Amino acid sequence: MSNYAKALKNMQPTNDCLVAIDSDGCVFDAMGIKQRECFCPMMIAYFGLQPVAEAARECKEFADLFSKTRGANRHKTVVRILTELLPSHPETKKRGFKVPEFKYYCRWVNDPDSLLSDQGLEQAIVKAENNKEKHQLQHVLRWSKRVNEMVAEIVKNVPPFNYVRQSLEKIAHKADIVVCSSTPVAALEREWAEHDVAKYVKVIAGQEMGKKAEHLAIMCEKYDKDKILMIGDAPGDYDAAKKNGVLFYAINPGNEDNSWKKFYEEVFDKFMAGEYAGDYENKIIAEFEEYLPENPDW
Ligand SMILES: [Mg+2]
Repeated sequence: MSNYAKALKNMQPTNDCLVAIDSDGCVFDAMGIKQRECFCPMMIAYFGLQPVAEAARECKEFADLFSKTRGANRHKTVVRILTELLPSHPETKKRGFKVPEFKYYCRWVNDPDSLLSDQGLEQAIVKAENNKEKHQLQHVLRWSKRVNEMVAEIVKNVPPFNYVRQSLEKIAHKADIVVCSSTPVAALEREWAEHDVAKYVKVIAGQEMGKKAEHLAIMCEKYDKDKILMIGDAPGDYDAAKKNGVLFYAINPGNEDNSWKKFYEEVFDKFMAGEYAGDYENKIIAEFEEYLPENPDW
């Protein structure tokens, strides 16, 4: 077991209730800047989408920020854009633009056995059956690494949403807090310390400690399920909560400040009073789903 995972396993509750909080796009307003300023320009450049740059940008926003695939793996959303969203975009049709196929890359992404990371791409490059496949995967790997560089350079000093600080302060008096994220731990520790909010948190759980559902499974051994509340901004957060049978509160994309205000003024007290489950939670989740449609309106 890694030292990271041990920290989560060995964590001792000091309260009966636990609030698990996602970080990116939930506490910190980092998703927009990451997608708009880093992923999108490089996607346009590396995938040859310059003739339909505006449309590509709309697709990127829809896929990664404001639809069911919000927060999904970078490769999955790029394939969604190349094969589904961009070819059906009216601007693409109007210009008669043929979206590049990237068929070897798409095949790799759609293979359920693929590890969708830089490391997984490197493995696939070694196993490539011909030069075309190899060059295509190498090209995508360069894109992915270029994006990582840009994120490190550009995404910094991004503050927490309004009412996050007050909420953490309020929670910390009565319940335990863990960060439950799929970002690398080092980046999480840096961000939470930079904004002086790490002091409220018992453990910062990131990528190295497993998936979010696995973090929550460890927590379920320490707290009653109806005393665990997961706060997140993406369908993956909701799925992780429901997989473990714990409660979920949504930070609605594009309306984060209000979601945190509501949490601070109302939701946390309901949770502590044992009144959150049932109709109240169902209403929160139904509203969240409206924020993240399946299909675009084009
Ligand atoms: Mg998130």
